[in-house]
Formats: sequence, structure tokens, C-alpha cells
Amino acid sequence: MRTSTNGTRLDRRLMQRLLVVAALLAPCPGADAQPAPYRHDVFDAHMHWNQEPNPFYPLDKVLEIFRNNGVTGILATSRPNKGTHQLVEAKPPGLWIVPFIRPYRVRADIQTWFKDPAIFELIKDEYQRGYYRGVGEFHVNGNDAAGPLVKSIVDFAVERDLYLHAHCDEPALLHLFAHNPKAKIVWAHTGFSTPPARVRELLDKYPALWGELSYRSGIADGQGRLSDEWRALFASHSDRFLIGSDTWINERWFGYDTIFKTYRAWLGQLPEDQARRIASGNAVRLFGPRPTN
Ligand SMILES: [Zn+2]
Repeated sequence: MRTSTNGTRLDRRLMQRLLVVAALLAPCPGADAQPAPYRHDVFDAHMHWNQEPNPFYPLDKVLEIFRNNGVTGILATSRPNKGTHQLVEAKPPGLWIVPFIRPYRVRADIQTWFKDPAIFELIKDEYQRGYYRGVGEFHVNGNDAAGPLVKSIVDFAVERDLYLHAHCDEPALLHLFAHNPKAKIVWAHTGFSTPPARVRELLDKYPALWGELSYRSGIADGQGRLSDEWRALFASHSDRFLIGSDTWINERWFGYDTIFKTYRAWLGQLPEDQARRIASGNAVRLFGPRPTN
């Protein structure tokens, strides 16, 4: 009996070891399927809480959406700037707010702000609040960016160490840097469809240029698989990109969860250090230090 009991114990130990070895050798479940989604906190570098005259979602609901999506920081703007004031004054626990001056009072200003002296006055007035870190998001294309009023705004930003959040095509981007080579520009949408090779050239040429990736095409395919070109661009320039929601219309608030699920799906395919930079690390480097609240 004794021998047989020992034999049973030995068998059990052997079996346990074999199971451990088998578990180590076996492919991990889903290794060929989608990688685990990126789980860490994210900074929404393109958030509008527009109010014309009232916001689509009240403050509590917006804060709940951020919490549900692991968003712990936002580049905050609104049209008019009232929404940004309210966000800053609310001091929501656990949410880092980086306010930018929106150069718009109403939607129609998008078409004319770059030649409207009243907008420069608006920017100067808002700046008096003392908490702004940048100007934007503003829209400008081609030679509309070449005018003297735009140069004044770029110079104003440079002199006060403010970032510009520019939704612009490549010619306008070059005009902004030509106005003042010391400009610091977050390029909203990273040109939408500018070839990745050209994005790389621009990042190399302008060290104070960062790409924000909402609506940016070509990063992942229909199945969510990261493209080879973008994987390579992130491998060499992961310190130059940010992600954002661009809640410019109500539908983007409806789609907020999906937007960040999509980001997480391709962030999860990157090496951890690169994913962390793009998700929130670069925002901390640009706008930090992050306050503890
Ligand atoms: Zn936008």
C-alpha cells in the first residue's frame, strides 16, 4: 500500500509538471487573433465641448464618458470658449485639463478668423485668463495662412510659449512655420492623408511639430491591423504623435467609445513604450507636469 501511495504521489507530481510544461509550450490562446487592447490611460488631444448656446451633453455626462474610456487628460477647447472656462473651473478630480484658446465665437468664424482683427482681440482677451497653453484648433488652408493677421497670431503664441493646434493642409503648415520658425504646432489630423513618408520628412524638418491622429487615414486596415508604414513611422517617431476624439459634432460624442476602442486596438499592436508615448506620454512631455488631483 505504502509503495502504491508513493507511486500515486509521484504520478501526480509528474502529471502537474507535465501540465506546467505543456502550458508553457502551448501557443497562448488567441496568439494569432487580435492582440489584447491597450489598457492604459489616454490623453484626448482633440476635444471640443461646443456650446451653441448649450452643450449637447452636460458636464457630468461628458466627465462620465472620459472616465468610461480611461481618458485622464484632455486638450480642451470649445466654441465659444465658455465650455473650456466651465471645464477648468469645475476642476474635475482625476481629469487633467489643458485649455487652448478657440479663435471662434460661432461656427461661421471658421471661414474668416484668419483675416478678422476681432479674432486676434478675442485671443488676447482670453489669454488674460492665465491658464491657456495654446491657440486652436483653428482651420486654415493654403495661402489663407500666409496673411499678416495669421503671422501676428503665430508670433503672439511664440512669444508666450503657446502651442498652435492647426487643422491645415501642408502648404498652410509651411506658412505657419515660415511666419515664425519657433512655432510649436500640433497638427490636427496629421494632414488626413498626407503620405506617411512625407509626414516623416516634415517631422524630421520641424522638431516642434507633433501629429494628432483623429480622422487620420491609413493607420490600420479594415480588420484593425496596423499598417507596415505606420508601424515603421511609430517605431522611429513615437515621441511625435498624440490621439484625439475630435468631438466637433454630436455624432462624435455618440461614437466616443468606438473612437478610443479603435485607438486601443492598434496601440495594443505596438511595443509598450511606443504605445504609452502616443496614448499619453507625449502629452505629459508637451504640456506637463501633470497636476496631481
Ligand atoms: Zn476639431
